[in-house]
Amino acid sequence: MDHGPRGGSERARSLPSGAGGCLPADVEEVLVGREALARRVAELGAEIGHAYAGRPLHLIGVLKGAVIFMADLARVLPLADVTFDYLAISSYGRSTETSGVVRFVKDLDEPVAGRDVLLVEDIVDTGLTLAYLREQIGRRGPASLAVAVMLDKPERRAVPVTVEYVGFRIPDRFAVGYGLDFAGRYRHLPYVGALRR
Ligand code: 5GP
Repeated sequence: MDHGPRGGSERARSLPSGAGGCLPADVEEVLVGREALARRVAELGAEIGHAYAGRPLHLIGVLKGAVIFMADLARVLPLADVTFDYLAISSYGRSTETSGVVRFVKDLDEPVAGRDVLLVEDIVDTGLTLAYLREQIGRRGPASLAVAVMLDKPERRAVPVTVEYVGFRIPDRFAVGYGLDFAGRYRHLPYVGALRR
């Protein structure tokens, strides 16, 4: 039976003990370690739980980058009634830049009218994607709409956008891991790393 390539196409460095995962050659350094991520997600969960106490909360994750953050966040919410939906968008432009021109490639499965919605996104960079999504979802008449992002690169903001819950502010580096990819890879890394320049 073929078990696939041994060790993958490149030799990955190990992380310091306890950190988990590996450090692929393309990843220069760890920006946010897995323990810091877990601590911050727990804090955000408590904060969000407090804000929505006793109310149903509808989470909308932006595929694919928000999947890991949303899965972790949802599981620390001290709320009894939480539902999930996902949307997928595609942005035109180069792989490490956002053009701001986005289109839905997967729309929501459920209506949001009258519901308390929390849009969950991996990272806000120029803000163009979130500004567009806030506007599009807001038009559908949710009772409330708030945004949670794991990472924020404030230096690169091109349009103002409201983000109610932010995990970490990071410098202007191309981040991978914890759901974020580079050319489809590295979403599985348990930490946020910076791609080699
Ligand atoms: P914005 O529209 O705010 O410029 O960018 C939002 C989208 O661009 C994110 O949802 C993400 O898909 C992508 N993006 C922006 N910065 C990064 C980054 O540092 N790493 C990765 N992997 N994607 C990014």
